[in-house]
Amino acid sequence: MECLEFKKKHKKYSQFPLTRELSESEEYELFLNHLDSCGECYEWDLNISIEKRGFSSKNFPCVHIAYHVTAGLADNIDPWDDPDIVLVKTSHGYGIPIRDGGSSMIKVENCPWCGIKIK
Ligand SMILES: [Zn+2]
Ligand SMILES: [Zn+2]
Repeated sequence: MECLEFKKKHKKYSQFPLTRELSESEEYELFLNHLDSCGECYEWDLNISIEKRGFSSKNFPCVHIAYHVTAGLADNIDPWDDPDIVLVKTSHGYGIPIRDGGSSMIKVENCPWCGIKIK
């Protein structure tokens, strides 16, 4: 699948839950393969999720940080309570939450996904 087709099909495959017919289709497999292998479309997809959450990746060091941090900014989510949240932003910077009952974190100096320096 090419990038252009991927982007065209994106809407169709982003309506969850997918019908069984869609999720078991060969096209969906090609779609997921493209998402896995194309860095550009992967980041494009992350950006859509970020915008759906009401944020912009421009306010973050990179799209990966934006995606993972904004996942924990949704209503009723305590990042230290939700194992799906891998990255948080605090007044001390960005970090990986340590779930030991408190609210400490391992500070992150570089993006774990692309290596960009985080200020
Ligand atoms: Zn692509
Ligand atoms: Zn990154």
